[in-house]
Amino acid sequence: MALDLNNYIASIPDYPTEGVVFRDISPLMADGEAYHQATDQIVQFAKDKGVQMIVGPEARGFIVGCPVAYDLGVGFAPARKKGKLPRKTVEASYSLEYGTSSLYMHEDAVLPGQKVLVVDDLLATGGTIGATIDLVEQLGGEVVGCAFLIELADLNGREKIKDYDILSLMKY
Ligand code: AMP
Repeated sequence: MALDLNNYIASIPDYPTEGVVFRDISPLMADGEAYHQATDQIVQFAKDKGVQMIVGPEARGFIVGCPVAYDLGVGFAPARKKGKLPRKTVEASYSLEYGTSSLYMHEDAVLPGQKVLVVDDLLATGGTIGATIDLVEQLGGEVVGCAFLIELADLNGREKIKDYDILSLMKY
């Protein structure tokens, strides 16, 4: 019997700021069966797309993406915040509530023509995943899908990435 993954998400009101409900995936990660099931669902989504590389943004994109890459037998490349990558990088910036931020990838992290699945724990406004997609495309990769554990439907991030095939395991 499949687990209801919603039972493994902790919802914390007013964190990190008032009015935000933080969706904490730690209980899901802490439960072997739930973590395995979530990973498996993303693997199934990826399988018929010929995915050759997984890319995820710092930090929870690593937690979601690495087991998927391991299961598929493909590589994982991180999109990281400023100052974390030691070699030559490409950069993509995105809007935050106040100001902007950037993500970076090593310029050889994705090969031209490679089929890439981008993953993160949660889709909110779509800024983070939009920047991650931008990085992959700057490197010549082909984004064949986007996968999330959680989608916050009200924030309409889906609209920002509507040209891509999207999987979200839970919606709030
Ligand atoms: P966004 O760029 O607006 O789509 O935000 C997505 C990123 O911010 C993801 O990497 C999430 O980890 C994090 N995030 C945004 N909102 C929440 C939330 N309500 N609960 C947990 N993480 C969040």
